[in-house]
Amino acid sequence: MATVGFIGLGNMGGPMAANLAKAGHQVKAFDLSEQALAAVTEAGASAMSTARSAVEGVDFVVTMLPADHHVKNLYLGSDGLIGLLSDKQLVIDCSTISSEAAVEVGTELENAGIGFIDAPVSGGVGGAKAGTLTFICGGNEENVDRARAVLNDMGKNVFRAGDIGAGQIAKICNNMLLSVLMVGTSEALQLGKANGLDPQVLSEIMLQSSGRNWTLEVYNPCPGVMDGVPSSNDYQGGFMVDLMAKDLGLAQQNALKAGATTPMGSLTRNLYHSWAQQGHGRQDFSSIFNYLQPVTNK
Ligand code: NAD
Repeated sequence: MATVGFIGLGNMGGPMAANLAKAGHQVKAFDLSEQALAAVTEAGASAMSTARSAVEGVDFVVTMLPADHHVKNLYLGSDGLIGLLSDKQLVIDCSTISSEAAVEVGTELENAGIGFIDAPVSGGVGGAKAGTLTFICGGNEENVDRARAVLNDMGKNVFRAGDIGAGQIAKICNNMLLSVLMVGTSEALQLGKANGLDPQVLSEIMLQSSGRNWTLEVYNPCPGVMDGVPSSNDYQGGFMVDLMAKDLGLAQQNALKAGATTPMGSLTRNLYHSWAQQGHGRQDFSSIFNYLQPVTNK
């Protein structure tokens, strides 16, 4: 079993750190929020008073932070962890950030002799709690293999997409596709409903036809069609509109830089951004279904 310094114990990081502690790893945890810190100590992690004390002497440092600047400041800022870490430690950043930020942080750490992989996740809060996340890694093969010692206790799939930063790119490709499928499925269901069709029956038809996709299979956006999904719980729980809008912004930023043509990704980014601005940022991303109501019913 390993020693792990875990920083960022929010909706995702909290249950991930708890699963590591339950699996028998010695987890030294830190978060700016005392409430978040208290929750993981119940699962067996030790609460630390600073990020520096959490990473001192551990085998692995895992971070699960909101955005680029949090990760850059923590590792590279004044008094950043780069000055404290050694070549015996491996940094695993699970946050969803831009590939540029991952490359910047990873390259600086590796130049200082410290191993780094980016390992953003798919699977949401449910996957974090159940320990069934998918880790999409970027980094050299040796470091990704080394990371499996802790990633396997928080998830069920570990993929290596390529070198440092590649995990972040694969993650935004997936989420861009997911947003397109969600918007397309919502449009089709709204069109059927506007013509008097039962959305349950229409969903069953499309599930056995060429429109079949993941959102119809396990995440139907129309309330009442499927049990146990956010659409049947007032769009609470699940993956927030704010986070989808953030990921789609990262995808567009990257598409501009790479010269990729992503008209559907651009459109879904605008739809999610606008839906968030209308006050739905904390709802599940399947709530985009309501944005697409027939005009006469709005
Ligand atoms: P969150 O806001 O719930 O948690 C972030 C935590 O980081 C907070 O507890 C905050 O106090 C802490 N924090 C911020 N700066 C810190 C610092 N300098 N030192 C210590 N702690 C600090 O966010 P989340 O939902 O857990 O998401 C974390 C990351 O995972 C994001 O990059 C997000 O895009 C990604 N992600 C989230 C989901 C999801 O469904 N929530 C799914 C996949 C990926």
